[in-house]
Amino acid sequence: MYEEEFNDEVPQEGLPIPEIFRNSDTKGYITHCIQCDYELLKGDRSYMIEKVFKRYPNLDSTQVLFEYGMCSVCYEKMKDSLSVESMQNLSNYMMTKMDFSAMQQRIEENPEDPEKWMSHCMIHGTPKEEMTEFQVAASFKGDRLMTNFMPPYMIGGLALEELNGLLSKETKEDMDGFIDQHFGIPPELRKDFILI
Ligand SMILES: [Zn+2]
Repeated sequence: MYEEEFNDEVPQEGLPIPEIFRNSDTKGYITHCIQCDYELLKGDRSYMIEKVFKRYPNLDSTQVLFEYGMCSVCYEKMKDSLSVESMQNLSNYMMTKMDFSAMQQRIEENPEDPEKWMSHCMIHGTPKEEMTEFQVAASFKGDRLMTNFMPPYMIGGLALEELNGLLSKETKEDMDGFIDQHFGIPPELRKDFILI
């Protein structure tokens, strides 16, 4: 009892999980690893959440194509299973094309509001309102959004197409297989999904 009270005084790492990274049906947390069913909120493994959205500007509506959480163990396994060449191409692209200073500025302007960090494509700076599809991702531990490794980010359709062009045929098939296995999304909708 004493220890619990004491721990309450310690400032928590990270930030509360913003709504965009919650379960879009229940509005609660995403609770289990999509691959191994590990309980993500236990807090001893970090995990990532990835979501892909499609926007219909004429209808003023945004649809979640799919969303999932994946524990760090499965994430590492999955990355290891993808071709080395594709992974190097992806990380080179991210390191050279990412607009670090724009991201830094958005973080400084709204340090407590990570949803605002994702207002523009991290690569091209396109505002979300001008996109028809985009993907967001971030890393977490327990019920906290972690920002020390990589800030949460959004990537728009154009950057996703460019990234897709860097993947080997084998890697594309692996990513398609992952989507097939878990979501059964029609190919024309999922063509630009990238596991980053
Ligand atoms: Zn897992």
